[in-house]
Amino acid sequence: MKLPTDQQSRNRPVAQALMQALPEGMVLFDDDVTSRSAGIWRTDTINARILIRPRTTQQVSITLRICNDFQQSVVTHGGLTGLVESAITTNHDVVLSMALMNEIEAVHPLERTMTVQAGCTLQAIQEAADSQGLMFPLDLGSRGSCTIGGNIATNAGGNRVIRYGMTRDMILGLEAVLADGTVVSSMNLMIKNNAGYDLKQYFIGSEGTLGVVTRAVLRCREQVTDSPTFIVGINSFDQLSQFLKHIDQAFSGNLSAFEVMWNNYYQLVTTPPALNKAPLSPDYAYYVLVEAMGASQEQSQLALEQALEKELIADAVIAQSETQRLQLWGLRDDVAQVFQFAPVILFDVSLRISRMEDYVQTVNAKLADSFDHYQNFTLGHMGDGNLHFAISAGDGDAHARKLIETAVYEPLREIAGSVSAEHGVGLEKKPYLHLVRSQTEIDLMRRMKSSLDPNGILNPGKIFD
Ligand SMILES: Cc1cc2nc3c(=O)[nH]c(=O)nc-3n(C[C@H](O)[C@H](O)[C@H](O)COP(=O)(O)OP(=O)(O)OC[C@H]3O[C@@H](n4cnc5c(N)ncnc54)[C@H](O)[C@@H]3O)c2cc1C
Repeated sequence: MKLPTDQQSRNRPVAQALMQALPEGMVLFDDDVTSRSAGIWRTDTINARILIRPRTTQQVSITLRICNDFQQSVVTHGGLTGLVESAITTNHDVVLSMALMNEIEAVHPLERTMTVQAGCTLQAIQEAADSQGLMFPLDLGSRGSCTIGGNIATNAGGNRVIRYGMTRDMILGLEAVLADGTVVSSMNLMIKNNAGYDLKQYFIGSEGTLGVVTRAVLRCREQVTDSPTFIVGINSFDQLSQFLKHIDQAFSGNLSAFEVMWNNYYQLVTTPPALNKAPLSPDYAYYVLVEAMGASQEQSQLALEQALEKELIADAVIAQSETQRLQLWGLRDDVAQVFQFAPVILFDVSLRISRMEDYVQTVNAKLADSFDHYQNFTLGHMGDGNLHFAISAGDGDAHARKLIETAVYEPLREIAGSVSAEHGVGLEKKPYLHLVRSQTEIDLMRRMKSSLDPNGILNPGKIFD
């Protein structure tokens, strides 16, 4: 006779060991786990049957030690906003949810650092910095849900990379728990520290496969007094590239966002059912949202007048208030409009700016060869060489998916681009990693994995097999 599912989970030896070692209520089973969403923009729920909600590093350590002893696979969950299936579980996995490790431990305004637990949301961190007259520069559309642990594990990029770099550039130190329960505390508080290997780099961008990040020291910045923001319409890619150079020079190091929207994306987010108002005519080939943190409105005005004189841009609208600034950002952040065209696949690639125009044309030509109809909404952090596609073509079956992925990823090999600019690899891009990483590189990644996690219990099967 088959036991009811909940009995099967609770009777697994690993479950009993976890229940004995952890406080009551910290281990959840079956319906309490499988009723939870598997992630943002997903329709499925968690497959795993056991979920742990630790509050301390010690409890993470106990959990991993027990799981390692039982050779039990563990998938760490942050805010579940990742977009590459890197937090997906099977029904044999144990989920380690960091949601309750959400304490802001300390803010040091003089040193401009903050110490946090890994389950803090990015927005909570931004607000804590703000309340002390500081700024934490990382910013993503998912800020209300994503966690700093997830940002670290994916080395998230976002809107201000051109000025402040990726998450990697904002982390001074961190604490991580290894697969066997060892706590590696590398909570460095200084900007400079070259004493041996920089151990935090092992964990940044490793998608939960090398350790569980439990705490971090963040590098904050002084708040800026003004952030001039505007949107421009541009007619050709050549003008677009020249405008990037012009505006970067004009702002002398203050350019903090250069977000390009291709015409079809701009039309999508400014046409009902989208609620955004169109600030510019819908006829330009490209639209760029520009932000320059720390620059002045006068600098913006002058830079735009010069760009108009040089015929780099066709039109521009400058935000005159905080409300208008947020409305302009609302266009860039309203990516969810692409789901009107479901099934849709999201892509996040990077390549040299000089190759971008030809590359987009190549992808679209390949899509046109394979499908009678397709939509490819295109946008991206162009200043970072990062493009996003939201492609809807075919009926969503595996064959259509393969054709679309091949159209996007294959051309990257020749131009030395990357299948992931900022979202990571997860399960989704695993089959394409070899296009942009050599066998030697992948072998070294495997050696690092087996030295830190010899039983392969941490997020198995993600990034590579
Ligand atoms: C609207 C929207 C906008 C977005 N914009 C951007 C963007 O501009 N730039 C960008 O880079 N991404 C963006 N993303 C993707 C996503 O928000 C980021 O990848 C984010 O960093 C994931 O954080 P999370 O807490 O949700 O992680 P999760 O989705 O929960 O997990 C992601 C990965 O990290 C691992 N992980 C999570 N926490 C830990 C931990 N404490 N220790 C070890 N491993 C851990 C998981 O196992 C998994 O492999 C966006 C997503 C959405 C929905």
